[in-house]
Amino acid sequence: MRITFYDVGQGLSALVVLPDGRRILVDTGEHASRGGCEPACRVWSDHLRGALAKDLPDKRLDAIWITHQHSDHMGNAVDLLGDLTVALYVDNGTGLGTDPRRRTQVDRAHEAARARRVRVVTVDPANPEVPLASTADVKLRAVLPKGDWGARCTDDPNDCSIALRVDYCRSSVLFMGDAERGEESRIEVEPAGVLQVGHHGSDTSTTDAFVSRVRPAWAVISAAKRGEGTNATYCHPRRSVVERLSRATGGERTRPMEVFEGTSCRKAGATDWTTIAVDDHVLLTARDGDVRLVTTGDGTFTRE
Ligand SMILES: [Zn+2]
Repeated sequence: MRITFYDVGQGLSALVVLPDGRRILVDTGEHASRGGCEPACRVWSDHLRGALAKDLPDKRLDAIWITHQHSDHMGNAVDLLGDLTVALYVDNGTGLGTDPRRRTQVDRAHEAARARRVRVVTVDPANPEVPLASTADVKLRAVLPKGDWGARCTDDPNDCSIALRVDYCRSSVLFMGDAERGEESRIEVEPAGVLQVGHHGSDTSTTDAFVSRVRPAWAVISAAKRGEGTNATYCHPRRSVVERLSRATGGERTRPMEVFEGTSCRKAGATDWTTIAVDDHVLLTARDGDVRLVTTGDGTFTRE
């Protein structure tokens, strides 16, 4: 199994190639024309579409899995539904517009999927089944709160992220989308070798309690550089989260990483960013570019 976290700046897009050849794209990064983000968002979006053209020479995807309905996760969905032949489109079923004259980005993605005869499926706490077959070696599971999303989901789409767990024999990866501490505390998680760190390394996610349950050997943060594009207003990743992950992954602290340690991104000054030595199993797309991790199913992952 191979997992590629594309360097899509402030956003997320990761390709999972299963050992049986099936391909699942988890999220689609930010759209090129996101307001106030030029030119960074165009660079990120062009990079993703170019990398997928290279990694998917037959232009086929078994599924696009949208963790939640924010533009840094579903921004390129419409374009990719045009670029590629996609069998299945999964999202959490929220964000559809009620006024046909004012289409939301979710409406546009569903319309694009329907126009291309792509099956659209909602996965949420009431419909937790993953519409992709598990096999003897590969298990695909949505990791969801029991019963319902919870109150916070209404105000904050991050907390209705449909986390995805993929187990290949003894190797596991957990995608959290932008789930924050409220959702983390309501889901049941098991240890996983690779953790896609929730919400781009924000300190609203990835609590001590959560990390001690997941016990990742590798942690991948998908975030932009300091001040780049939309990260100028988010300041991801946060020092406390990177240090927490660095303690958990248990490699060697050999690699510098620039992290935010201020209290307010809006009022951030030069001294609010610092460079710290980080465990070499904590990766950051802004620093490392596209990150590829592979496993034979023996429980360990190596970086390609
Ligand atoms: Zn996000």
